[in-house]
Amino acid sequence: MKHLAKKRFGQNFLTDQSVIQSLVDAIAPLPNDVMVEIGPGLGALTQPLLKKLPTLHVVEIDRDIIAWMQNTYAANTIHIHHADVLKFDFNTIGPRIRVVGNLPYNISSPILFHLLDNVGGIIDMHFMLQKEVVERMVAQPSTAAYGRLSVMLQYHLQMEYLITVPPEAFNPAPKVESAFVRCVPHATLPFIAKDTALFAKIVMAAFGQRRKTLRNTLKGLLDDAGFAHLNIDSQLRAENLSVAQFVTITNFLA
Ligand code: SAM
Repeated sequence: MKHLAKKRFGQNFLTDQSVIQSLVDAIAPLPNDVMVEIGPGLGALTQPLLKKLPTLHVVEIDRDIIAWMQNTYAANTIHIHHADVLKFDFNTIGPRIRVVGNLPYNISSPILFHLLDNVGGIIDMHFMLQKEVVERMVAQPSTAAYGRLSVMLQYHLQMEYLITVPPEAFNPAPKVESAFVRCVPHATLPFIAKDTALFAKIVMAAFGQRRKTLRNTLKGLLDDAGFAHLNIDSQLRAENLSVAQFVTITNFLA
């Protein structure tokens, strides 16, 4: 169909067939999978996925695309959810789902955080994102890319950087490079925060001003005696702490 890409919905449609094939290979759909695609757009991933799956759920916000999908796909193959993914309750689809998508880059971090609310029901997730965001997701401590996103996601997920994808694989071409990532919820959490809201608060405070020492950023939360007790140097910065150390601080304060 003739469709003008809408910038406000982050529409950069995948067009490179060999890239699309490698994404589908990485997803490796199996016929019994209950799969949800976020932002199906004009079907670049939807159509090859439907060759491997008898049915597929899709969550799409753009009413023009919804109308096009209703005319294009057989009703029994695709379950169309006309919704804002940030408000969509993934639990309504099933207890054990797989999630995929070439995400709208403008809201990719909020989507990832929203999915963490449903993480118990997710088998795995495969996403195309801005490369820089994927680098932040998988980053290790004491690197420039390591930050709040790394800690909050790595607490729940095991992640794997899979494929780098150049702008030319899309139409219109985004201004940035992209990357495909696999996220699998930990079977059992490696470190358990007694209070996840407090964990989130501490991580947020520590990275709020990432150039400042922990002594400064955690002032009011953790005093010198606390740092000494935990054997954490208060002169370090948030980017030097592992997920385990953020959990240790949380459980000390909880
Ligand atoms: N999957 C298609 C592809 O790879 O060519 C389209 C990907 S495009 C980067 C992002 C898609 O997400 C678009 O179809 C867009 O309309 C949709 N989208 C944007 N914001 C959304 C939202 N808040 N909720 C659901 N879908 C959204």
